[in-house]
Amino acid sequence: MSTRPIKVVVAGAGIGGLAAAIALRQQGCEVVVVEQAAELGEVGAGVQMSPNAVKVLRALAVEPLVRETACEPLAFTGRDWKSGRVLYRTPIKGTFERLYGAHYYHVHRADLHHALCERLGDAELRVGQRVLGVEQHGEVASLKLADGSAVEADVVIGADGIHSAVRRSIVGDDKPRFTGNICWRGMVPVAALPKGHVELASSNWLGPKGHVVHYYVRGGAMVNFVAVYETDEWKEESWSTPSSVDELLQTYSGWNEELLRTFRATERCFKWALYDRDPLPHWSEGRVTLLGDAAHPMLPFLAQGAAMAIEDGYELATTLGKLRDGVGVEAALIAYEQRRIPRTSRVQLGARARGTTMHLRSPWARMKRNLGFMLRSFRKPETTTHRAEWIYGYDATQA
Ligand SMILES: Cc1cc2nc3c(=O)[nH]c(=O)nc-3n(C[C@H](O)[C@H](O)[C@H](O)COP(=O)(O)OP(=O)(O)OC[C@H]3O[C@@H](n4cnc5c(N)ncnc54)[C@H](O)[C@@H]3O)c2cc1C
Repeated sequence: MSTRPIKVVVAGAGIGGLAAAIALRQQGCEVVVVEQAAELGEVGAGVQMSPNAVKVLRALAVEPLVRETACEPLAFTGRDWKSGRVLYRTPIKGTFERLYGAHYYHVHRADLHHALCERLGDAELRVGQRVLGVEQHGEVASLKLADGSAVEADVVIGADGIHSAVRRSIVGDDKPRFTGNICWRGMVPVAALPKGHVELASSNWLGPKGHVVHYYVRGGAMVNFVAVYETDEWKEESWSTPSSVDELLQTYSGWNEELLRTFRATERCFKWALYDRDPLPHWSEGRVTLLGDAAHPMLPFLAQGAAMAIEDGYELATTLGKLRDGVGVEAALIAYEQRRIPRTSRVQLGARARGTTMHLRSPWARMKRNLGFMLRSFRKPETTTHRAEWIYGYDATQA
């Protein structure tokens, strides 16, 4: 009796695709990853890894590698955009591991990506190959590539991001939605700032029409910032474009001087339009499914896009790993999406709602919100001000 493990082809070697590939190899599946970029890499920016993602990174043996360069913040702090007054402070270091079963890390994306690549093992990686879409014939799913070739497998996973070609093949050409937010991303060398200028925290400056998050990465050598601002129009054709520190300073004119000082110390920054989509009722068709931004692109306001992609990859792998000879794939993919969609949809919609709370225009509404923050910090000092316990406490490795 044959007991062939299943063959899976993953489109996209981003954070989600790589996490899925490692988890699939752990399950004994044959794995091919196809990536359009000629070289693997990630943008020069930071990423927050919350305990729910770190529990998966631990199961994939990636956490020790990430720790080498990660920074662990002392707390989440919320600050008033103008006065700099602290509105809330939730302890992280020394608390999150006890409450949620793992650490909270700040990591440079390139370092996380590198750590994931280190654990790919003997998964086959094909770079410089652009995916056009998928086709299915009987029990074979086939990934079509721009060079005219195809990769056949028992299962195709679309981990090819917000512009996913795999998604287009199975869901149709629904366009992502401009959310009315743009953001600047930049890195500041710590050496360019006065000593102790930036707190070892996940700091969130809350203002009218925008917010700014900053934190340390690269073992504390750099400060990463993401500055979000509401705008009615995005005229650029591309989704990201080089910007200038002058434009950034002009947008945040009138904000706290301490924050502006951090902006001034950056050498260059990029401007991004923030897009998302509504939650989908299904991610799978036959032997093809989606994960990460291909399935549920979201606003970064809960810092969960990559974390959800990592969770997706792990849960998908544990579902597929049980199968032999390509039998039972369709049912397994339905079980996977039924488990994941309620959680990722809640995070997608929660990220939108959080934007509304963080960008209040009316001073009266901000005062009421800040009072709520203070009361909550007073009554339950260890719980997160933004009520994220249900996100951080989740453990995909036990699901
Ligand atoms: C400003 C900002 C801050 C964020 N901060 C956080 C955070 O702190 N924490 C967090 O968890 N998330 C955060 N996110 C979200 C996170 O970056 C994304 O959700 C995450 O990167 C999605 O991973 P992915 O693997 O699904 O997709 P992607 O990272 O987009 O990877 C897709 C991969 O597929 C490849 N690809 C695309 N098309 C093709 C094709 N046709 N053929 C072959 N290959 C293809 C791409 O080259 C890429 O390598 C943030 C996002 C933004 C914009």
